[in-house]
Amino acid sequence: MIPFLDLKAQYASIKPEIDRAVLGVLASGHYVLGEEVALFEKEFAAYCGARHAVAVNTGTSALHLSLLALGIGSGDEVVTVPFTFVATASAICYAGARPVFVDVDPRTLTMDPARLEAAITPRTRAIMPVHLHGQMADMEMIMAIAERHGLPVIEDACQAHGADCSGRRAGSIGALGCFSFYPGKNLGACGEGGIAVTNSDRHAATLRMLRDWGQEARYRHVLKGFNYRMDGIQGAVLRVKLRYLERWTDARRAVAARYDALLARAGGMALPVQAVGRRHVYHIYAIRSPRRDALQRRLLAEGIQTGLHYPIPVHLQEAHADLGYRAGDFPIAEAAAGEVLSLPIYPELSARQVEEVAAMLEQEAHVG
Ligand SMILES: *Cc1c(COP(=O)(O)O)cnc(C)c1O
Repeated sequence: MIPFLDLKAQYASIKPEIDRAVLGVLASGHYVLGEEVALFEKEFAAYCGARHAVAVNTGTSALHLSLLALGIGSGDEVVTVPFTFVATASAICYAGARPVFVDVDPRTLTMDPARLEAAITPRTRAIMPVHLHGQMADMEMIMAIAERHGLPVIEDACQAHGADCSGRRAGSIGALGCFSFYPGKNLGACGEGGIAVTNSDRHAATLRMLRDWGQEARYRHVLKGFNYRMDGIQGAVLRVKLRYLERWTDARRAVAARYDALLARAGGMALPVQAVGRRHVYHIYAIRSPRRDALQRRLLAEGIQTGLHYPIPVHLQEAHADLGYRAGDFPIAEAAAGEVLSLPIYPELSARQVEEVAAMLEQEAHVG
């Protein structure tokens, strides 16, 4: 059996350090925020090459508070992509704003800058590209368009810890960048977690208030805030794991390179594309095939678990029917949703396991 993800293998590889970190927090009594979270914020900001990081309880909360920090609310539009996890659009709705979608680039499946300008209206207040599967969107083009229109950019970097674009790290380019530490992400907590990074002192101060009931000082609530604080245990766990992130990213990239080489000649499928000048961190390694469902069933029958990221684009989700989009509105995203198949990829995946997955896929390609 080859699981899609193996969180227990990662824990086993660093168990003594994680156990010590968790027990340290239990003994300290600092269960919400506290010193471990504050230190993690400093270390993660430095990792991203940003001035500030504000830790919260989920990646979705980081997106929500980033929108609020920019003053976005009811009547406003935020331009994003339909080919993403639903949280991107949900965060925009939490803020009371309306998600406006633009289709993705057919090669990278990230926001297509060539289509961005047509989606901007007088109500647009921000642009929220998604660094999908671990590869950054074309930030140079997106920032140029955003600057021309005087619009801030919020990077949804929830899948892209440590990715870069022209030498600049994910999260550090836009006004704010948001990350998730959901256990399955490249940097995952032992529970939920998220963070927003920014170079703006003002945005950081606003985020710190908003995550903690809008307090400026204890019981002085200057903003309508939220309980979006990070747990002390998650801060301590993430500090340990951050020290391994580069090693783990290299291991993910090695798995991806091995898949690339082994599958290069397999027919009937397209491999993920790493755009020039971008460092893909392979949160997801998604091949594309018109026979996706059959491939997935055959792999599962052989004990190989795969995933779909994502099978229904957000504009066609029932929950967002009120936005008024229809099938056919975003053909690139819709085609991708029917064809993507995510192969197992994690630092602990062995070369032999990668070869096994690739051999099975190649066999299926010939059968098909
Ligand atoms: C995981 C994810 C989120 C949400 O993060 P949570 O921590 O689960 O709230 C948002 N956007 C994208 C693209 C994600 O992959």
